[in-house]
Amino acid sequence: MKSILVLIVCWNLVQGDDSGCLSQGGTCQEDVLQCSGHYVSGLCTGSATRRCCLHGGTGSSGTGSCHNVQIVSRSAWGATAPKSVSNLHLPVNLVFIHHTETPACHDPASCKSRVQNIQHYHISTNGWADIGYSFLVAEDGAIYEGRGWDRVGAHTEGYNQRGIAFSFIGSYSGSKPPAAALTAVKNMIQCGISLGKVASGYHLYGHRDVNPTSCPGDALYHEIQTWPHYSHTKP
Ligand SMILES: [Zn+2]
Repeated sequence: MKSILVLIVCWNLVQGDDSGCLSQGGTCQEDVLQCSGHYVSGLCTGSATRRCCLHGGTGSSGTGSCHNVQIVSRSAWGATAPKSVSNLHLPVNLVFIHHTETPACHDPASCKSRVQNIQHYHISTNGWADIGYSFLVAEDGAIYEGRGWDRVGAHTEGYNQRGIAFSFIGSYSGSKPPAAALTAVKNMIQCGISLGKVASGYHLYGHRDVNPTSCPGDALYHEIQTWPHYSHTKP
């Protein structure tokens, strides 16, 4: 027992202060070990191979780790708490693409207030428990966390229990969203697969494929038909 105590004390002395990593929600570990997010140097004490594994996303609220996507968490955009929550059975097989049919936004300040307004509209006018979409994407490629990976949304009537939805902030009938936004959603879908949220054999649809709507706009609808997993057969 005594020797174990001595070892623990020595270990702590050697490790010193890892607060740079811990304060970012990461874990200091040997970088040969699996890291669910990505490694950052210079935040952990000890040898150069002892690095900070940053898990990314916002942890408990369900964005998981998507190292190649910039995710704006609910708390970061100032979301109101949902009125009720029900969880999806994961992984989901269906991914739906929408547009918000609002003006677009390109920077954190204007997108934050745009997403707040959409949430307010969905709760106050539509009477929903929360913002309808799983995630929203801005023209600068930033992804705003809606209901996240884990929770049933209110986006695609008849399919909310079986799928998740990405909504492009803007109106994309005449022109498609910028490359940054398109790439961000593609990366998020890949990330969803790696996190076990989306089935690897998922089917991708536009909102209009399953509900009577023009969503996600003609230009965006044509674009997503070139994406892998776009499905011409109804779910
Ligand atoms: Zn839609």
